[in-house]
Amino acid sequence: MNFENWWLLSFPLFFLLGWLAAKIDVKQLVTESKRIPSTYIEGLNFLLNEEKDKAIEVLIQLSRSEPESVELQFAIGSLFRDKGDMQRALAVHQGLLDRPVLTNSQRNRAVLAVGRDFMKSGLYDRAEEFLRRVSGDEHLPEAIKLLTDLYVIQNDWARAIDTAYKLRATTGVKNNAQIAHFMIELAAICRTERDDEGAIKWLSKAISEDSLSPRPLIDLGNVFKGQGRYQEAINVWWKLEKCCPKYIALISDELMDCHQNLGIKNQCLAKIKDIIEVDPIHELLLSAFEMSTELQGMEAANDLAQDFLRKTSDVTWAIPVLNSIKANLEETSRQEVYLLIRVLETYRQDKQYQCESCGFQANTHYWRCPACRLWDTYPPTAIQIGALG
Ligand SMILES: [Zn+2]
Repeated sequence: MNFENWWLLSFPLFFLLGWLAAKIDVKQLVTESKRIPSTYIEGLNFLLNEEKDKAIEVLIQLSRSEPESVELQFAIGSLFRDKGDMQRALAVHQGLLDRPVLTNSQRNRAVLAVGRDFMKSGLYDRAEEFLRRVSGDEHLPEAIKLLTDLYVIQNDWARAIDTAYKLRATTGVKNNAQIAHFMIELAAICRTERDDEGAIKWLSKAISEDSLSPRPLIDLGNVFKGQGRYQEAINVWWKLEKCCPKYIALISDELMDCHQNLGIKNQCLAKIKDIIEVDPIHELLLSAFEMSTELQGMEAANDLAQDFLRKTSDVTWAIPVLNSIKANLEETSRQEVYLLIRVLETYRQDKQYQCESCGFQANTHYWRCPACRLWDTYPPTAIQIGALG
């Protein structure tokens, strides 16, 4: 803006001040703030500074002069729970329940608070008892959500499914992905009990519940493969190509095995080449290189490696390229290239799967993070943890 025109800025500023004056009755604001006892402000300050002990002290002091205040008791109880002092949190919340005069909403809120306290204390039976007692529209969704979490903690997947459906019916929340995971957990239990038919039933239900989820397709293919139904496994796994091709990385070895067993590994190589043409997924490049070496010979595989190196600049592909060059060199130069390969191999670090939510790293892929317990936070491809990564 031209310097001489700076005063033009004053127009929007005056407009804003006028608008604020119209919205806020300044006199009223001053009167209200005088009505707020200074102890509230003191307690609020402690809370804002994360000094929970001092905040509790101030609020308890305040509650002596205002013993009827239900809100104060809820605030004190929540602070005790946040601090992990469950005995006192329960005492405060149960004290509220003992009051003869409470509105329905306040009573439900107190029942919910007691349920939450028992849940945090690890007393799941008592938590369930209280959470099931919550009724009415206002606090019911939270109670159902907590009940679902409670069943998940206990691996009670059938009940988790029931409450998750109830939550959807009550609030309209789209929790299809969550319900599908619960169904797949039930399928996994069937598999440990060698009940393949039960597993197939739950996995099919999970696919209907969340058609975009890769997990039931992957697990269903594994059940078919275990039964020797290789073509069916292949058909299910290739469905991943449409919804989420990166997840093929998780079953690329099994996919190659099935094609091998049917004597159609060429088809597998052709299909994987199509996918990596669009998206050079590291694990699929490795599979293509392995199959190309086996089916087409070293020369064709090295051509592929050169192509991958150009596309990805990944050190992994420099090694086969150098190996192919090495064969045509004189002895001294060959030794130097050999040394270079050795150096590159030290840079080719192990890859790890990493949770996108909490950063927890693992050697295997998890559908549910073992650290933060969230679902679907692991990408299907591992990341390089190393100097060149
Ligand atoms: Zn995590």
